Amino acid sequence: MKRIAVLGSTGSIGTSCLEVLDGLLDQMVLVGVSAHQRWEDLAAQTHDFSPRWAVLSDTELSGVVRRSAFSEKTELLFGADELSRLASHVDVDIVVAAIVGAAGLQSTIAAVEAGKTVAIANKETLVVAGPQVVELARKTGAKLLPVDSEHSAIFQSLQAGKGREVKRVVLTSSGGPFRGATREQLASVTPDKALKHPTWEMGPKITVDSATLMNKALEVIEAKWLFGLEPEQIEVVVHPQSVVHSFVEFVDGSCIAQLSPPDMKLPIQYALTWPDRMECPGPKMDWSSTWSLDFHPPDRELFPALDLGYEVARKGGTCGAVLNAANEIAVERFLQGELNFVDIPRVCRAVLDAHNFDPSPSLSELVRLDVWAREETTRWKSSRSI
Ligand code: NDP
Ligand code: MG
Repeated sequence: MKRIAVLGSTGSIGTSCLEVLDGLLDQMVLVGVSAHQRWEDLAAQTHDFSPRWAVLSDTELSGVVRRSAFSEKTELLFGADELSRLASHVDVDIVVAAIVGAAGLQSTIAAVEAGKTVAIANKETLVVAGPQVVELARKTGAKLLPVDSEHSAIFQSLQAGKGREVKRVVLTSSGGPFRGATREQLASVTPDKALKHPTWEMGPKITVDSATLMNKALEVIEAKWLFGLEPEQIEVVVHPQSVVHSFVEFVDGSCIAQLSPPDMKLPIQYALTWPDRMECPGPKMDWSSTWSLDFHPPDRELFPALDLGYEVARKGGTCGAVLNAANEIAVERFLQGELNFVDIPRVCRAVLDAHNFDPSPSLSELVRLDVWAREETTRWKSSRSI
């Protein structure tokens, strides 16, 4: 039996992961779950799966939660350090890193340090500290298996050839809810509209990231580190149906893609069962009706976040940590009505430009810059209308 810990089990990826695990209980056992604040959801999960540990990372909740709401078989723990202890525990084989944002960095690194198999949904960890994480995994033998649908598609497609035969990878993007919008329409986007994604159901942060195309920017950086690619080898194409999840182009011109309906259960399950494939509870393709697949280039002027991602992928160093932190705060401020939608890439640009670039920072320097970039972004005021 493989022993699984799901960090961020109450989120969109986390709950899909538990659905997948429910179908794999003959070969896997859920030993750990975690949430930040939604303790009642976490408590319900302990009754469904009787994991050995449940961690609430927000320590302020220790006086609030009803211990009796949790399964008696589960030990309830509090704080970020307990998340790292769970991620590195000898009785855990696979860690699903499904916390949102740089908050997932510490526990993901703890899992990599302990040489675990890490099913990584938390792309922000790779954006902030890609080279450090990849190097650590090389040293400890930890495996990083992609959960992000595009990266899972690339991982699956790569199996059709050898590493040196790869010409480039093409990441598909739905284009988000504002595909084809005018500049004026973008300037008046409300949080409500940005939170309605046309093809995927996801947590609020990544849903806004998908609307600005910052998600694709982060995915370019994620692909660079996961697959050891140069930014020039990573292409982005808009594909509104979200059925082709990405493809790999080999040197002979052959493009190998992975297709499935837009649902995260398949990529989550593949990371858990790799190198095997199993029946999956996700929806299947319906080939009995007529439908078509469209592809077109992204509008890089309307969605400048995408080029920020390429710039950061090229420069590396401290840029990823700064871009990520600025974006996290900008998204929060947009959702609170303090910033306009179009301000999100603007403030990221401004904070990136203002930071002291270091080409080979230590992990502690990255953490310090993360804090700095959050403060800068919190202070930033928009000075333009559109
Ligand atoms: P959600 O917001 O739905 O869930 C986030 C999870 O992380 C919840 O369990 C939440 O706990 C927990 N969490 C939030 N803040 C903290 C914190 N400060 N410390 C510890 N835990 C915290 O996010 P998603 O599931 O949508 O996304 C998770 C990750 O997966 C992101 O990195 C995202 O980019 C990536 N991803 C998501 C996809 C999707 O389809 N959703 C697709 C591809 C990648 P609580 O419930 O208590 O708030
Ligand atoms: Mg994705």
